[in-house]
Amino acid sequence: MRCEILMIGSELLLGQIVDTNATDMGRALAENGINLYQKTTVGDNPERIRRALDDALNRADVVLTSGGLGPTEDDITRECIAELLGRPLEFRQDLYDALVELFARFRYVMTENNKKQAYAPRGAAGIENPHGTAPGLIVEDARGTIICMPGVPGELLPMLNERVIPYLRNKFGITGVIHSRVLNVCGLGESRVDAVIGDLIKNQQNPTVGVLAYPDAVRVRITARAESIEEADAMIDVVDAEVRKRLPGLVMGTDSTTIEQVVDQLLLERGWTLAVGETNSGGMLARRLVSARARSFVGGIVQSEHVGHGAIRDKAEAIREHFGSTCVLVLEPDPRERRTLARFISPEGTDDWTINYVSSDERSQTRIAVVALEQVRRRIMNYEL
Ligand code: ATP
Ligand code: MG
Repeated sequence: MRCEILMIGSELLLGQIVDTNATDMGRALAENGINLYQKTTVGDNPERIRRALDDALNRADVVLTSGGLGPTEDDITRECIAELLGRPLEFRQDLYDALVELFARFRYVMTENNKKQAYAPRGAAGIENPHGTAPGLIVEDARGTIICMPGVPGELLPMLNERVIPYLRNKFGITGVIHSRVLNVCGLGESRVDAVIGDLIKNQQNPTVGVLAYPDAVRVRITARAESIEEADAMIDVVDAEVRKRLPGLVMGTDSTTIEQVVDQLLLERGWTLAVGETNSGGMLARRLVSARARSFVGGIVQSEHVGHGAIRDKAEAIREHFGSTCVLVLEPDPRERRTLARFISPEGTDDWTINYVSSDERSQTRIAVVALEQVRRRIMNYEL
């Protein structure tokens, strides 16, 4: 089965919004064994939308569209389909009733132009949209299937995952899945990770292994093709074990797990609390811990590099006393050596080390914070350092 996606919206061409729908759709389709052959982007222009749909139908069995289903003048996807397929747009009582019910539920006043959303090309099936007003549409035609979804990501993605993908898998008898697991490694460069597992990246066919570097972690992605998620997971387990064997103790978590979540968990398990003191990291430690809703985190101070310099020893104790915490992590720049000094005090002792970044731009702050937290993790776990 060949599938294409057609992204509709002038704002996409003008670069006013980032086309996240296309990447999210691509990923979801791939994970569900649906082959995506082409992506086209078109503005809110009726002729060009019709032509793009026509071209896509000449190539593909299924065309998925995003956008242009709303109530406003420039939302013309349903009109274009009706015209292209030579089917009239019909008022649909079922779609209308669903709209009325939805507006009542959200206590919104329905306007005249919302009625537009109750129209569909003859023979189309509606897809309910629990997160918004624009219902999706499935139009089966001699040349192929067109499925329209609203452009708002919070409406499109649930509709795609819960309704459209199951519909397509069923219709075309697709059973396979592509499933991934990500192993997160902190405080180690991409090239170091690559050097250790490079042969897996080169030689693995199924699962495949890939490495990507982000400011906060190096992510090793293991992807398997299988008949089911369970089967894929079992295949991934084997490679996962091999990667961990080669990077002993260095995989700090899987998938969307962050280092601050991991450290928080370790502290909570021990009944410890953490306070932090920062200068050049500019509050990044505190910010990440707060965003992770870390329950072990009790507070921190951020000082200008110009005042808070040189007294990391006294500072650590003072901060610990001030917040009454069991542990304290203090970071302090050492610009002459182009590095950052770190001190961590826990009930098990005091550790000092250095981090090879010193700048205070946001990227460096992220690096310093995650590397410091990773070092705390390794110390709590008593890894050989
Ligand atoms: P609505 O009923 O909300 O008007 P719609 O189907 O008419 O939905 P559009 O008007 O095309 O969709 O887009 C609505 C909003 O959804 C856009 O303003 C934009 O914020 C977001 N959006 C649209 N297309 C995309 C896309 N490809 N990627 C990410 N966001 C998008
Ligand atoms: Mg719209």
